[in-house]
Amino acid sequence: MSVFVIVYWIGVITEMAIRAPISQKQRKEAKSESRVSVQENVMLGLLFLAMFFLPLIYSATSWLDFANYLLPSWAGWLGVVLILLALIVFWRSHADLGLNWSPSLEIRTEHTLITNGIFGYIRHPMYASQFIWVIAQPLLIQNWIAGFLDLFVFITFYFLRVRAEEKMMLDTFGDEYREYMNNTGGVIPKFK
Ligand code: SAH
Repeated sequence: MSVFVIVYWIGVITEMAIRAPISQKQRKEAKSESRVSVQENVMLGLLFLAMFFLPLIYSATSWLDFANYLLPSWAGWLGVVLILLALIVFWRSHADLGLNWSPSLEIRTEHTLITNGIFGYIRHPMYASQFIWVIAQPLLIQNWIAGFLDLFVFITFYFLRVRAEEKMMLDTFGDEYREYMNNTGGVIPKFK
């Protein structure tokens, strides 16, 4: 296994370690709203496939070798830098969002609108980190199926999810969220 593929798996394990404690606690939280749709579940399944399952097949078997490509080594190292950046943004967004995090679209009874920390710059830092991740992934895993495909899966997920999520936040927090939207960017910081 190449050093870049090993870095990819260290990245996956680090994300799991960052998320696990919050995930465990938030499951026990009472929810006042849940907008989990079939489309949403299908997209989450596809994301799991493209981010975890296909890289696993790639790493453990030679079945996907026909789809390999080879990049110069600087591209792999760029992937290492990007995955590190993705992890830092992922960690900060979990630290700032706390128990308001959920894997799908939910509002808990004690939900608070977070507008500070990394959320003071962008409304979707977790998705921003995932964008950086899906750029890093095809640099680290040099395979059209196990590396590159996630980029398309995530872009589709992002546009569907953000529309539904922002609608849910507007329905819940109204003008407070509208004002927050005016002051922040989606995944690209708004400085003014
Ligand atoms: N889009 C955010 C959060 C992803 S987790 C990000 O990319 O970082 C999804 C859940 O986060 C949603 O169910 C919603 O309830 C919650 N959420 C999103 N933005 C929030 C905010 N600013 N404050 C509190 N909760 C938020």
